[in-house]
Amino acid sequence: MKCELCDTPGGTVLWRDKDCRVVLVSERGYPGFCRVIWNSHVREMSDLAEEHRAHCMNIVFAVERALRRSMNPAKINLASLGNMVAHVHWHVIPRFSDDPHFPQPPWGQRQRDVEPVRRGADESTLARAIREELAAS
Ligand SMILES: [Zn+2]
Repeated sequence: MKCELCDTPGGTVLWRDKDCRVVLVSERGYPGFCRVIWNSHVREMSDLAEEHRAHCMNIVFAVERALRRSMNPAKINLASLGNMVAHVHWHVIPRFSDDPHFPQPPWGQRQRDVEPVRRGADESTLARAIREELAAS
């Protein structure tokens, strides 16, 4: 059975361990859009053992803190949808008042066509910030 998230990392890998990975996704208008992806096939958070669930959320919050300090967004949006793939994953999305959908969800009605100015946080900066936040947590 083909699975996109088994066959490919699903983005630029910023951090990983045996259980999960953090990838930076290329999403037009959304610099810093990250996903925390569980490596094996688990569909729901409630199917994860308690320590795995805690591990997953610890990483989600480390990514959130790393994005906040690297990019200073107006808001972080956290979402777990996963209707298309058999991997629990969290979207960690920095939001800015001039991004394409703000204040609507990124999946909502587009609010403007302007491309937001890219707010410098390159891959290595984000990867380092995530490692530091995980070390501090
Ligand atoms: Zn898979």
